[in-house]
Amino acid sequence: MHFQDLPARLADIRGRIGLAAERGGFGQHVTVVAVTKSHGPEAVRAAFHAGLADVGENRVQEALNKMQKVDVPVRWHLIGHLQRNKAKHIDRFTLLHSLDSSRLADALSDVGRQRGSPVDVLLQINVSGEGTKGGFAPSELALEADRLARLTGVVLRGVMTMAPLDASEEELRRVFGGAREGRDVLARAGHPAAELSMGMSNDYEIAVEEGATMVRLGTTLFGARDT
Ligand SMILES: *Cc1c(COP(=O)(O)O)cnc(C)c1O
Repeated sequence: MHFQDLPARLADIRGRIGLAAERGGFGQHVTVVAVTKSHGPEAVRAAFHAGLADVGENRVQEALNKMQKVDVPVRWHLIGHLQRNKAKHIDRFTLLHSLDSSRLADALSDVGRQRGSPVDVLLQINVSGEGTKGGFAPSELALEADRLARLTGVVLRGVMTMAPLDASEEELRRVFGGAREGRDVLARAGHPAAELSMGMSNDYEIAVEEGATMVRLGTTLFGARDT
C-alpha cells in the first residue's frame, strides 16, 4: 500500500466535513483521527506529513509496537476495547475512546491517581443495542455519570459511539443523535464532556451533521485493510 494520494484524499474529506458541519449547524470543530490499525508505521508517518496529528489504534499491543517504529510526534488514541489488566498502558495514549465498563473506569482511575494526572476518557455508548457492541446503554448514563464523578483519576471528556454497519440514514441519525443526547446528559451532570467521537469511513458525513467533534477514519484515508 502506498500513500502518495493521502494529501488529496484528505483535502476532499476535509471539504466534505466542512460542508456537513455547515448543514448540521452545530458550529463544532472536527478532528480527524487517522485509524492506522493493520497498516504499518509508514501509514502513521504519511498521516503526520499530510497534516494529521491524531492517530487511532484499536489494539494496545499493535499500537505499542508501532510507536517504537515512528518518530513523528502524533497523538495516539485508543479506540478499541481495553482490558483491565492492560490499563496501565493508557499512559502512552492521549485519549481512550472506549470506556465500556465501570470496572475499567476504576482501574483507569487507579492509574491516573498513581501517575498524578487523570486519564482522559470518552464513555462508549451503545445506542443501537446491538449485542456485539460494547458500551453503556443510554438508560445507564445518569447513574454512571454520578459514579464517575467520584473517581478522581479519570476525566470524562465526552462520548464515543459506533453505528451498525448496514444502517439506513434514518437509523444513523437515531444512533448519532442518541450519542449527542448522551453527551449532553454527562455535561449536565457536571462533567467536561464536550467531545462526540462518531463517524467512520462510511458514515462520517452524517455523523458530522449530527454534531461529531471527532471522526475516526481508516479505509477512506488509507484504502482497504487486508486483515
Ligand atoms: C477500524 C475502526 C474505525 C475506522 O473504520 P473505517 O471504516 O476503516 O474508517 C473507526 N472506529 C473504530 C472503533 C474502529 O475499530
